[in-house]
Amino acid sequence: MKNKQFAVIGIGRFGQSLVEELTRLGYEVMAIDIDEEKINDTVEIATHAVQADSMDEDALKALGIRNFDVVIVAIGNNIQSNILTTIILKELGVKKVVAKAQNALHGKVLEKIGADVVIYPERDMAIKLARSLVSNNFLEQINLSPTYSVIELFTPVTFINKSLVEIGLRKKMGVTVLAIRRDDNVIVAPGPDEKLYKGDIIIALGSNEDLQIISDLD
Ligand code: ATP
Repeated sequence: MKNKQFAVIGIGRFGQSLVEELTRLGYEVMAIDIDEEKINDTVEIATHAVQADSMDEDALKALGIRNFDVVIVAIGNNIQSNILTTIILKELGVKKVVAKAQNALHGKVLEKIGADVVIYPERDMAIKLARSLVSNNFLEQINLSPTYSVIELFTPVTFINKSLVEIGLRKKMGVTVLAIRRDDNVIVAPGPDEKLYKGDIIIALGSNEDLQIISDLD
């Protein structure tokens, strides 16, 4: 068992997938839900599955919630439960609370009351899907700031068999290639003479505008 311990509160579709994946990755996970049925469904997967109301401070204390490295509030529709649970967790001294927000206002409230990380899974998934549907090469994006990102994309056809300097990626397009993935190999920090071939996956850093241009190329 790896030594980071997680607790997931609210075992809906999102919470359940999270419990499954953390367990698969070899971590100890406690699943908590008010609904006994949800707990029965998780008993086989989670390290511990406990029926409890997360708005009950004493119940959370009794579970030793403070000792978990990360607690994820995955309660969705019930915004009141989600917010109160987050407050209680922070008051009990949980180091890292990750809370799932339903919308921007809810997210703001969660930040104000001390959630360490606020996530918007539905919104983020929709944004990612939309981008991958409209762009030719886009695969994945990590936001570094509101204006800069690292993206993963297929090599556009117009770049094939050309070196980075020939394409002018940095000088003309404002994009820095951090790595190239070719079959099972990764070329890290490629030099200007490195060529791109069909099927290469590029990991590139730049402004969102510049990155959008290269991910939309044919
Ligand atoms: P998903 O989209 O992940 O399925 P959802 O929006 O449908 O989520 P909800 O049904 O609102 O999510 O909540 C997820 C789970 O959180 C449910 O299983 C529900 O029983 C549980 N839950 C709600 N309130 C509490 C609470 N106070 N304490 C513990 N669990 C709770």
